[in-house]
Amino acid sequence: MAIGLYIHVPFCLQKCNYCDFISYPYDVDLAASYVYALEKEMALHTVNMRSDHRTVKSIYLGGGTPTVLTGEHLTAILDYCRSYFTLTADAEITVECNPGTVDSAKMVEIRKAGVNRVSIGVQAYQQKMLSRLGRIHNWREVVEAARSCKEAGFDNLSFDLMFGIPGQSQKNWRETLDRVIELTPQHVSAYNLKIEPDTPLHRDVVSGYLVSCDEELELEMYWYAIDFLTGHGFTHYEISNFAQPGREARHNLIYWNNEEYLGLGPAAHSMMNSHRFSNLESVELYINRLNKNESVIHKLNSLTREEQISETVFLGLRLISGLDLTAFEQRYGKSFSELFGDKIKKLTAQGLIEIEENRVRLTAKGLPLANEVFAEFI
Ligand code: SF4
Repeated sequence: MAIGLYIHVPFCLQKCNYCDFISYPYDVDLAASYVYALEKEMALHTVNMRSDHRTVKSIYLGGGTPTVLTGEHLTAILDYCRSYFTLTADAEITVECNPGTVDSAKMVEIRKAGVNRVSIGVQAYQQKMLSRLGRIHNWREVVEAARSCKEAGFDNLSFDLMFGIPGQSQKNWRETLDRVIELTPQHVSAYNLKIEPDTPLHRDVVSGYLVSCDEELELEMYWYAIDFLTGHGFTHYEISNFAQPGREARHNLIYWNNEEYLGLGPAAHSMMNSHRFSNLESVELYINRLNKNESVIHKLNSLTREEQISETVFLGLRLISGLDLTAFEQRYGKSFSELFGDKIKKLTAQGLIEIEENRVRLTAKGLPLANEVFAEFI
């Protein structure tokens, strides 16, 4: 079966206050060495790879901020992908971009290189919220980024938004959604901000300088986003994701369907041949190792059959349409009810899941309690 490729671009112009992703300050020479190392990593992976694993149905350049790279470097990465892998004719190729790192010439260049989807890190409308998050951009740059993408010929734009920001009101959130809709995206991701330890935002909350968002308000914001976006023609297809018809993120569907993907770049994660593995995090070490043609895999975990089943269940339950029980039985040789009869009874009685038309899914009551439901299957 064709796989997905995730390419981690570990550079940003500035660290955001809530960020715990692996990213380093952008440096043009380091970036050039990184791009060169990526090719070496592709060569190492593909030397003995099964041919079906070399067939790629989606590429996702995430970060970090992929658009800090030059158009030339982004094009080179996609050229390497094409020389080491076979892309399906309809492959989805997404680049994450942050406003403030986008210009028309770069977007034209990457469109020509085959990128057909752009995911823009918008987060919020209000400058106060953007500053609180430590974002480098303002709303004008969001509008300019969307315009540059459209002028370059992109017709598949996704916007990332955040709710539950300390100090954010329901009015702020509604205003963000109103302004975003004016920019006519095909896809919206609405994430509940999680304040991670060891981040400036966490320190601000612990010190009392900021007050974290009330859980009830977060829930109101979530329900509002569902009502608002579905009212504007979007399908709510995953816990945090909304798409216009046919514009679901095909790359992310690989994760939620627990299919195989290969992660390249520092800290990238992979799931191949029933193994989860991840690369070392340091970009310098990543480059040094690959310059010596050495592996950069840092952690490798062979999944038992039970672990694979658990993952398929809780990832599938993230989808609003739920997990296809016929496909599940074909994949594992046992029915869902045979394996999880007691849990199904318990969660159904609690009104957290339902089984209909041979799919198991979270109910409206179960949606905000998804993590508790998932825990039952781990
Ligand atoms: S742009 Fe993204 S990856 Fe970069 S610092 Fe901000 S949140 Fe982290």
